[in-house]
Amino acid sequence: MKLRSTSIAVATAVTLGLSLTACGGDSGSGDGDGNDKVTIGIKFDQPGLGLKTPDGKYEGFDVDVATYVAKELGYEEGDITWKEAPSAERENLIARGDVDFIAATYSINDERKQKVSFAGPYLLAHQDLLVRSGEKIGKVEDLNGKKLCSVTGSTSAQNVKKDFAPKAQLQTYGGYSECLSGLANGQLDALTTDDSILAGFAAQKQYQGKFELAGLSLSDENYGIGLKKGDTELQGKINDALKKMVDDGSWDKFVEANFGPANYKNEPAPEITEKG
Ligand code: GLU
Repeated sequence: MKLRSTSIAVATAVTLGLSLTACGGDSGSGDGDGNDKVTIGIKFDQPGLGLKTPDGKYEGFDVDVATYVAKELGYEEGDITWKEAPSAERENLIARGDVDFIAATYSINDERKQKVSFAGPYLLAHQDLLVRSGEKIGKVEDLNGKKLCSVTGSTSAQNVKKDFAPKAQLQTYGGYSECLSGLANGQLDALTTDDSILAGFAAQKQYQGKFELAGLSLSDENYGIGLKKGDTELQGKINDALKKMVDDGSWDKFVEANFGPANYKNEPAPEITEKG
């Protein structure tokens, strides 16, 4: 962990020529130069939420939230290393100490809480479907027999299999952008995940007018900041940061900047529930 005090210890260790591996959980810094760094997991392929642009910049609501939180923890933007956190890898990245925390459309649920802790939530989204324009699916049962795509390790894929449409031909890929190309070229009938993510895809220039959301609101997805299980100190600090972010108007600003272009009608900021 790289709260300030630990970072100083690492810096000292480097100065003394000691091996960083002796510091255990500090592999997340990944720089080894003794500077105060923080490594944050985000999505790289979700426009409006977590996106790595072709010129190597990072943008989206999760990026803004994570940058704000990092600042409250004492890290400037330049101290942040962004690491891709695919849906199925998130618990592993945290458990291994490869990241300090994750802000990656990461729904809080009990199964995940066996392995990680969460701060937040900071956004409430709902599972929905993305289909080709004009091929609207009116109810979730219509998916049975259809080729549906979602991502490995996501709640979206789990929900479909367990509850919504057990007879859908579900294909799971590593990332949502792969589903999207399958939907565009006709190999798939629908893509399911959170409406926040789907709105961002539908608004992409190359797809404008091609896709539409079904508007089904199939589940509640409360996005939390994932962190090492049991690190209540970090959890408390991140909760404080998230609360401040809402109170000082930054949350609204981030919503407008990132969801405005996709015309995503978000829910109000949720109450913070994750403690201890
Ligand atoms: N929010 C859902 C989840 O955490 C779906 C989005 C994602 O895969 O990141 O699984």
